[in-house]
This record gives sequence, structure tokens and C-alpha cells, in this order.
Amino acid sequence: MTTITSGINRRQLFINGEWCDSESGHTFKVYNPATGKVITEVSEASEGDIIRAVEGAKEAFADKRWRGMSPLERGRILRQVSMLINEKQMEIAQIMTLENGMPLNTALFVEIPMVIECFDYMASLAAQPLGLTQPFSATGAPPNHFVYTVKEPIGVAGLITPWNFPLLMPAWKVAPALASGCSMLLKPAPETPLTALKLAEICHEAGIPEGVLQVLPGADAAGKAIVSHPDIPKIAFTGETSTGRKILAAAAPYIKRVTLELGGKSPNIIFEDADLEQAAKSALFGLFLNSGQVCQAGSRILVQESVYERFVTLISKEAAQLTVGPGDDMSNDLGPVISKEQHDKILQYIESGLKEGARMITGGKSSREEGYFINPTVFADVKPTMQIAQEEIFGPVGAIISFKDENDAIEIANSTIYGLAAAVWTKDFKRGLKMAQEIQAGTIWVNTYQVLTPTAPFGGYKQSGLGRELGPNALDAYLETKSVIADLNEQPLTYF
Ligand code: NAD
Repeated sequence: MTTITSGINRRQLFINGEWCDSESGHTFKVYNPATGKVITEVSEASEGDIIRAVEGAKEAFADKRWRGMSPLERGRILRQVSMLINEKQMEIAQIMTLENGMPLNTALFVEIPMVIECFDYMASLAAQPLGLTQPFSATGAPPNHFVYTVKEPIGVAGLITPWNFPLLMPAWKVAPALASGCSMLLKPAPETPLTALKLAEICHEAGIPEGVLQVLPGADAAGKAIVSHPDIPKIAFTGETSTGRKILAAAAPYIKRVTLELGGKSPNIIFEDADLEQAAKSALFGLFLNSGQVCQAGSRILVQESVYERFVTLISKEAAQLTVGPGDDMSNDLGPVISKEQHDKILQYIESGLKEGARMITGGKSSREEGYFINPTVFADVKPTMQIAQEEIFGPVGAIISFKDENDAIEIANSTIYGLAAAVWTKDFKRGLKMAQEIQAGTIWVNTYQVLTPTAPFGGYKQSGLGRELGPNALDAYLETKSVIADLNEQPLTYF
């Protein structure tokens, strides 16, 4: 077992390049989900702190200390951030395991590499072309006009993130917002503020100027204060669909630019011609990575009737071999879930599955005395309309549903309010691509699951989100487009 040595040296707010207590003096407790015990207390941002942070971020934007730097220089500093994260990866991974519960392996080999790639890719986008020259065409006007577009950073961005990937979720917002030249306030989830504070420390060390990245741990109230602040024109949010609705409503009076990355209930579709053993192994990864606390988790496994029982036997055997325990023990596959509240909510879903008549083939409550552990749980014989097939559980619980043919699979796959991701397993590539066309989701995998690249846009159809993060246009979420039309004629056009 690896003992977690404390890299926790930051417990305060990070405003204008300085570490400070909250104006109110309030703090909140951060818990270790593997034990349920308090790790430490962290300053809680109040409305006054948010107002001060916005003033600092506005000043940084106005004097162009960051957006006025050459894009190559901004890119160089972003690469420095990724190098420092690489250097300090063990220290960061330990903090993540401590406050989130995820296995150290997941932190080291899944989350941190994705963060590094995200900063590197956004660094490369910092110097992408920011506009085009355009032909001119206006009836009645002489042709000699020069038309071009420029893209400019929106201003101060409010970034609000969940706890499930405490470094990656901030990175997906901070890196493109920095690359675009915005200033920003980051409010991490109250469950996982320590990793975000580490990111603030690293960004400062890398040379991000003061006031450009303000990090304000706090509860939902701090998020609300950010969303309703009139001088924050851009909100980027990741979290529950129900919170996304509230954010959209609160942002409406100001017509803020809003991007939302929300919940999912993603189908993982297995056809009879797939390599069933590989599909079963991948389905476990799709379902149980980070104890199922993954927005794109393959929580609905759709299996073709003819191979249904064989697949159920395969997956229950594989799932029963997974080990559950504290994340600092590298031999564990699954850590705890984040909190007692989530733990109890997940157990209620398991109850609901049993009540509705689904067959639990493996899993259930853990016998561990401390911490918030749940065994990897799989239900078979699930009907598409059952609660466990419709609602996002956000825990290690999967539902296996049978289907007859392609059309049936498409209908079931598209039958929830969500549309974040989906996967298709088949040796027939034509079928795989046809399914990719028909399924309403932002990411479709063919013969794989969970694999993401910062070069491909990520986000949801339907109620899984609004807009996209990552991909070649990732910076657009933080930029306004301006058209400039200049008359090059001697006589300007007059009308009256
Ligand atoms: P959550 O919605 O409860 O909270 C997310 C963040 O929003 C937290 O920082 C919270 O303090 C803040 N917040 C809550 N209410 C707010 C309000 N009214 N105004 C402003 N801020 C507010 O979500 P969570 O429980 O932290 O995270 C789990 C959810 O996140 C799941 O539904 C999951 O699917 C989703 N998620 C989605 C993606 C994606 O990319 N689509 C990625 C990860 C997680």
C-alpha cells in the first residue's frame, strides 16, 4: 500500500496571485471518502470574495497583461503548466485519491495524462488563425471593401466544475479559456477543492499573471454568485443536468454565453458478431472506471438476444473479479464513491432495480465498515423503461437490456433524455458506422469505450449539454467573433 504523503499545502482562496482567507472567515470540511473522515478545512468563498475576484480579473483583462501577450508566449506558458503537472504527478495523484477516492492508478494513468494532453493541445490552439478575410457583396454598394473577421476573448469567464475528475474537469475549461486570452474564476466542487488549488499553484509557478486565474472553493452559493454576476459574460459549467437547467435560467437575464456539460445514460451496444470476451472486458471499463462516476459511463449495456445469456455469464464472472477498496492500495480496481449522500442514493437505485424486477447478477452493498464503498453491480433483464435504465445513477451500477436487431437497438439507445456518448461492438464496420449515424450522442465509439482525445469535440446531444469542449474549435466557446467592413472607395456610401 502506498502511504499518501501530504502535498496539501493550499487551503485558501487564490485571488490576484495571492493566497487569502475568505472575507467572511468561513471554512468548510473536506472528507476522505475511503474513511469518511475529515482531511482538512478550506476557506469558503463568499459573495464578497467573488466580487473582489471579478474586479481583479476585469483589471487583468483590461490592461491586457495576458491577452496582450503573443499567442506563442501564451502557448509556451500553457506547455509549462503541462510540464509541471507531469513533474508533480505523484503529488497531485495522491491529493486526488485522498479527496475523491479514485484509485491512484486511475489518477496516474487515466486522468493526469489526459490533463497533460489537454494543456498541450490548447497551447497549440493558442496560435491558431483567429479570423478570415471575406468577399464583399452588398447590393447598391461599390465593390471595393475590405472585409475580415477577428476573434476576441469574451472577457471574464466563470468556470464551475464537479468532483468526479477533480483535475480534468477544471483543465477542460481553464486550458482553452487561458489559450483564448480570457481571465477567469474557477469554482471547483466543494468535495474536491484541494486538487483545484494545486492547479492554481502550478499555473502561478508556470507564469500565468496574477488576476488571470482566480480559484474560489466554495459551495453551490459561490457558483450562484458567479452565474449571477453581471460582469462575467461567459459561464462554462459541468455537472448535473438539473443544475444545468438552473444555470441556464440564472444566466438568461444577462444573455450570458453558456456551455454546459451535463449528465448521461450512455448505451454500449453489443451485436452477436462482436468479440464477446473483448466486449465484456471493455464494458466493465466503460461501466466501472472511477466507480461509475463518469459522465459518459456505459451504464446501459444493450446485448443482442442471440448472445444475451452468454454475455451475461461472461460479464458477471469478470465483474466478480474486480477488487474494491481504498484508492491508495494500488491493487484495488474501484475506490469508494464520493460521499455518504451519493452512496445512499446509489443503494436506493439498487433497491429500485430489485423492486422493478431486474435480476442482480453481481454486486450490491459493500461489507466494509468505513468509507463509502459499493461493489460493482450489474443488473440483467432490465426493461428500457425501468428507473435504472432511464436515470443517471453516477455510481457502479449497470443495466443489461436485450435487443432484437439494429432498429430495436437504435430505438432503445435513443430512448432517454440524454445523448452524451454511445458505443457499438461489431465486426461489421458498415454496421458500426450506420449505428454511429443513427444514435443521438456527442461521442460514438466503435469497438472501444472511454477513449477520448483532446483533438475531438466532446459534449452532449439533447439534455446532456450545450456546446462542445475540446476539439479544434475549443477556443470558440471563449471567443466573440467581430466582423470588420472597411470602405476603400474615395466616396463613402450615402443613402439620404
Ligand atoms: P452538481 O451539478 O451538483 O455540481 C457541479 C458544480 O456546480 C459544483 O461546483 C457545485 O457547487 C456547483 N453548483 C451547484 N448548484 C449550482 C447553482 N445553482 N449555480 C451555480 N453552481 C452550482 O454536479 P456534481 O454532483 O458535482 O457532479 C456530478 C454530475 O456531473 C453528474 O451528473 C455527471 O454526469 C456530470 N458530469 C458531466 C460531465 C460531462 O462532460 N458531460 C463530466 C463530468 C461530470
